[in-house]
Amino acid sequence: MRVLVINAGSSSLKYQLLDTKTKEIFAKGNCERIGIDGAFIGHEEHDGGKQKLEVALPDHRTAIKLVFEILAAAGFDSGAIEGIGHRVVQGGWYFPESKVVTNETLGWVREVAPLAPLHNYAEADVIEICRELFPSIGNVIVADTSFHYHIPEKAWRYALPRDVVDRLHIRKYGAHGTSHRYIWRTANEFLKGEVHRLVSCHLGSGASLSAIKDGRDMDTTMGLTPLDGLIMGTRCGSIDPATVCYLVREGGYTIDEVDTMMNKQSGLRALSAVSSDSRDIEEAAERGDRNCQMALDMFCYRAGQLIAEMAQSMHGFDTMAFSAGIGENSDVLRAGVARELEWLGVSLDPKKNELRSDDPRVISTDDSKIKVLVVPTNEELMIALDVEELLHS
Ligand code: AMP
Repeated sequence: MRVLVINAGSSSLKYQLLDTKTKEIFAKGNCERIGIDGAFIGHEEHDGGKQKLEVALPDHRTAIKLVFEILAAAGFDSGAIEGIGHRVVQGGWYFPESKVVTNETLGWVREVAPLAPLHNYAEADVIEICRELFPSIGNVIVADTSFHYHIPEKAWRYALPRDVVDRLHIRKYGAHGTSHRYIWRTANEFLKGEVHRLVSCHLGSGASLSAIKDGRDMDTTMGLTPLDGLIMGTRCGSIDPATVCYLVREGGYTIDEVDTMMNKQSGLRALSAVSSDSRDIEEAAERGDRNCQMALDMFCYRAGQLIAEMAQSMHGFDTMAFSAGIGENSDVLRAGVARELEWLGVSLDPKKNELRSDDPRVISTDDSKIKVLVVPTNEELMIALDVEELLHS
């Protein structure tokens, strides 16, 4: 099935047209700076052709229309698109699994939007525009929180007053669920059904772990929002929650300033004082930059701690899988994380760890108690497979 996958943000819209059978990507791209000066569309085709179109993108409607025009020029008019999958950041309590778009399901995306206002409203608008412009194409909502909806209550409940958590729907929702689901499925296929207790490590500029027992999610490191858990590119991850009160009371920051500080000015960027990108930090650390070395050490230390926590939630683990930008590419950070876990029986083969490939691969030694994999993630394919399953049934 030929599926267009759309991932809309408040001022961006990423798209990918792919085939679920062959997994071929026909075209992909990104509309950037929607509603802002200097907007453009970066578009790539399967034959390697690339173009950057500097065009006015006053709103998402204009962006979608242009994406369809670009796709038509590449030989894929709307008649050639058999379904559209929409990545929704926050599905709240309405999306324990992916769902076909109807007036009701679209309303739910808006209803839970206060939990992710920057994303959900834009995504809901985009879904509405797609339905209006191309009424004959089926649309499916794939929420990034669905996979985590099934974790046990003792893992998702927060120890805050019940009336407050009930009224405001506070719980652990997690994120990267589509990626963790794909990593589980691919790891299990790759190891021929031998994966039972997996710690899935999505380590990119945003980073989270998931504890997955025989396909069911048991716990995850992100919480009500993606700020919780690991140290990330620009997010601080878990800190004492009272730090927020202290920053407001004693530091004189507004709550919005604290929000920006914790989400955009912290993490690897703050620790290294060089960059939020692990490649820059690794280079600087090699040149002897102490802050950068500390940033890498802290990233590995926290990742090791939280991997052990995820393993605990399954009372053990047999496999761990590294994925996303850092997990797929940084042998240095993979080795650093694995070193933290040597006491648990994790042993990396340095040669296998240094090999580069786009395929799933084992990087642990033959006698490692825990099998360690690298599994390149593919959220778009996972979304497209959901579209195929739901629209065909
Ligand atoms: P992601 O959010 O999954 O796209 O991951 C992006 C992050 O992965 C970057 O900010 C880098 O810190 C890290 N990274 C490390 N090596 C690479 C690489 N070779 N290609 C892309 N990202 C990399």
